[in-house]
Amino acid sequence: MRVLLVGGGGREHALGWKLAQSRTITDLIAVPGNPGFAQLGACVPGIDILDPEAIVDLALANAIDLVVIGPEQPLAAGVVDALTAAGIRAFGPTRAAAQLESSKAFAKAIMKRAGVPTADWQAFTNIDEAVDYLATVDPPYVVKADGLAYGKGVLVTEDLIAAQGWARLCLAGEFGDAGSKVVVEEYLPGQEVSIFAICDGTRAVALEPARDYKRHRDHDKGPNTGGMGCYSPVAGLPDDLVDRTINEVINPVLDEMSNDGIEYRGFLYAGLVLTDEGPKVLEFNCRLGDPETQVLLSRLNEDLLELLVSAAEGYLPDGPLMWNDSAAVDIVLTAAGYPDKPEIGRAISGCNEVNSMPNVHVFHANTRRTPDGLVTAGGRVLNIVATGPTITDARDLAYDAASHIHFGGIHYRRDIAQP
Ligand code: AMP
Repeated sequence: MRVLLVGGGGREHALGWKLAQSRTITDLIAVPGNPGFAQLGACVPGIDILDPEAIVDLALANAIDLVVIGPEQPLAAGVVDALTAAGIRAFGPTRAAAQLESSKAFAKAIMKRAGVPTADWQAFTNIDEAVDYLATVDPPYVVKADGLAYGKGVLVTEDLIAAQGWARLCLAGEFGDAGSKVVVEEYLPGQEVSIFAICDGTRAVALEPARDYKRHRDHDKGPNTGGMGCYSPVAGLPDDLVDRTINEVINPVLDEMSNDGIEYRGFLYAGLVLTDEGPKVLEFNCRLGDPETQVLLSRLNEDLLELLVSAAEGYLPDGPLMWNDSAAVDIVLTAAGYPDKPEIGRAISGCNEVNSMPNVHVFHANTRRTPDGLVTAGGRVLNIVATGPTITDARDLAYDAASHIHFGGIHYRRDIAQP
């Protein structure tokens, strides 16, 4: 089977690594891919992954049997719609289905109709109405740009003036079209957890929970980032959390969308808060998390390609997925200046050495191959994923491996998967 993978971050390197192990794969190419993925298959440069027709042309030219889409932007741009119209099998939601992530107001409306617990909310397009409404609710205030704002469109604050200012910024165009509507949401107190599922339009099968670390520095200090590390399995979660999320959140949402003629096929990621009243949804994402993908795929005992083909065709196999007993820990190595202005172009050493260590994988996120060797090319540079019999073993191995990687300005958290 010939597979085209769309995307070029750490998540896509890990997806490619797992797909490459399939019994049925014959060829794997990525657009744009990255220097880590290049060890697995060809990387196609120079194609805009937000251009549906360009992806269709690439898939046709390479007689692709399945296109797998990693990030959310190509989904919201309608890449799956164009592929499907051209008769090419694709794994990922259509543009209409991807509104679960690309429009918070859409997601809220579906959840309300499906009876899925979520924070109360109001959407506004008028600045004065948003500002007046905020003055009537209790702090903390949660104000969100409605559309895809690369994770930057959310403000949670105790300060009414700041909350009103954020609503003004959004509606005045700070986030472009993503902020043409703002959502003011009830604050949900409680522990945050993400649950991931593979959906085939009518049914969903859950992945194991993983815990990620969003803040830049140890002990959850510093600014929010795309993710500084992750581990799985996660101890101490309610036993029924995954089943409840599938039965009370994911399946009702799939049913409600299906009633509207929208079949959701693809990964679905529910961001939850465990409140005193049970799990409530913060947000949906139409893709796997990064770095959660890197640890989850390191533990998955399934042929990922067969799973994705069956989901894309609407018949996921019955029963839970198989996982190996090992624990996995991912440490994200970042560049100086991240998350604001990462320094790029710094020489990286140690990758080959670390890749040859047993039970360790280096997944590339933002690297570039130059005539002089590998260099940094963005904020999150590399993921070091280690597996072991326990979280402690995996963590110790991951930190040992990370200590062999060097580049100017390297920064990583030292407390990933610490009890
Ligand atoms: P989002 O992009 O919607 O996941 O929001 C980013 C982060 O803001 C979340 O991971 C939460 O930490 C926080 N957040 C968003 N919405 C709420 C809410 N309604 N209550 C509490 N925290 C929230």
